[in-house]
Amino acid sequence: MIVRSGLGYDVHRLVEGRALVVGGVILPHKKGSLGHSDGDALIHAIVDALLGALALGDIGTHFPDSDPRWKDAPSRIFLEEASQQVRKEGYEIGNVDTTVILERPRLRPHIAAIRQNLASIMGIRTEQISVKATTHEKMGFLGEEKGWACQAIVTLVKNENER
Ligand code: MG
Repeated sequence: MIVRSGLGYDVHRLVEGRALVVGGVILPHKKGSLGHSDGDALIHAIVDALLGALALGDIGTHFPDSDPRWKDAPSRIFLEEASQQVRKEGYEIGNVDTTVILERPRLRPHIAAIRQNLASIMGIRTEQISVKATTHEKMGFLGEEKGWACQAIVTLVKNENER
């Protein structure tokens, strides 16, 4: 059995007049995520972790923000493609663990929906994906609600005998 791990991290500004999309789920809030795409930092962190595990660069090389195709694009497209890439390379997703650093609103009521949505995009079971929430204790740009950040770690597995 070959096991690979990948790490992802992403930050976006929080501004008025944008939707706050977290793992493909829209959270009702007065501020949203600024980005070329929909600014879904959770999905971006997971995509970077998947690409990192495959040593295939990062989200910026695969989906550059200079490309008008990705303007306001739903980030689920990136996650679908990265998940397909994993299988193309002969791997299965073992598990995904994430932390969302968001001062407000409270993430907890949405975690079940976010996990379900991410699992369906990646073609895995809900039990394989963990979404944890924390605040930044009102300190720094995250704590002052100028932005939000996400961390992700993934493991990919491949049965050597099948290849
Ligand atoms: Mg991003």
